[in-house]
Amino acid sequence: MIQNTSRQKPGTFHHKKSLGQHFLKDTNIVRKIVSLANIADAEKVWEIGPGKGILTAELLAAGASLTCFEIDDTLYPHLDATFENTIKLIKQDVLKADWEALFPDGPVKIVANLPYQITSPFLFRVAKYALHFSAVVVMIQKEVAQRITASCGTKEYSTLSLKMQYYFDVTYGFTVKPNVFVPPPKVDSAVILLSPRKNRPPLADEALFWRIVETAFGNRRKMLRRNLRALVTKEQLEVVQQISGIDLCRRGETLSEAEFIQLMDAVLGQR
Ligand code: SAM
Repeated sequence: MIQNTSRQKPGTFHHKKSLGQHFLKDTNIVRKIVSLANIADAEKVWEIGPGKGILTAELLAAGASLTCFEIDDTLYPHLDATFENTIKLIKQDVLKADWEALFPDGPVKIVANLPYQITSPFLFRVAKYALHFSAVVVMIQKEVAQRITASCGTKEYSTLSLKMQYYFDVTYGFTVKPNVFVPPPKVDSAVILLSPRKNRPPLADEALFWRIVETAFGNRRKMLRRNLRALVTKEQLEVVQQISGIDLCRRGETLSEAEFIQLMDAVLGQR
């Protein structure tokens, strides 16, 4: 039973838009998500935002050893009653939780129908701790899924693409239509699979690398030469162009990961 509030009729639940509460109602989609996650018996799994528990129940049925993060306290009585002793419920904002203290000894898998408003900060945090995750299977907005899986040179290619593809092998799983949610969101969704990348190229200066990527995408219409002026002088830029072999008249969205690394090495040489 969902906790009542003064303005709610018993048993009714008012979905909170601010918390991205679009609950799944289609068990076929739930099964597809869990099947993509390929859960082994007793495998440690984190679910973000169990809501009323439709995905939670399927993950438990697949054998997951489950830790769930839920921010909405009106859902706690229902979750406590339904999953008493079968899940560990962290009653907190997942972005504020101390992940380092919660990581198990071995790797953990994330499976979630994510609240869409936390997608970017959540995924950047996942990238920061990439080594702790055996896989990440998340439902997000289709448009964001397309950006994450975008190839170099496309209009969807961005810092988010480079960042997720640097840490993970990314796979677009499947598209999900709004009518399988209550209430339906305004846009299509998609489920993606992130698997830790085995042979990440080493970065001589990781912080500088991401600064260069972000700066290169700072103004997509501008040439690299113009955007990179925020980081190096005009004179240094000419040397960077010579050493890296990268034409600075190009735009950031045309550069592959390997070319961004060449650029970083050349910039480092100027410091
Ligand atoms: N898993 C359920 C399902 O598929 O029906 C609910 C998914 S709903 C899209 C997102 C859930 O995340 C909601 O239960 C919401 O309350 C919860 N949530 C929103 N922001 C959160 C945050 N920062 N930390 C933890 N949970 C959050």
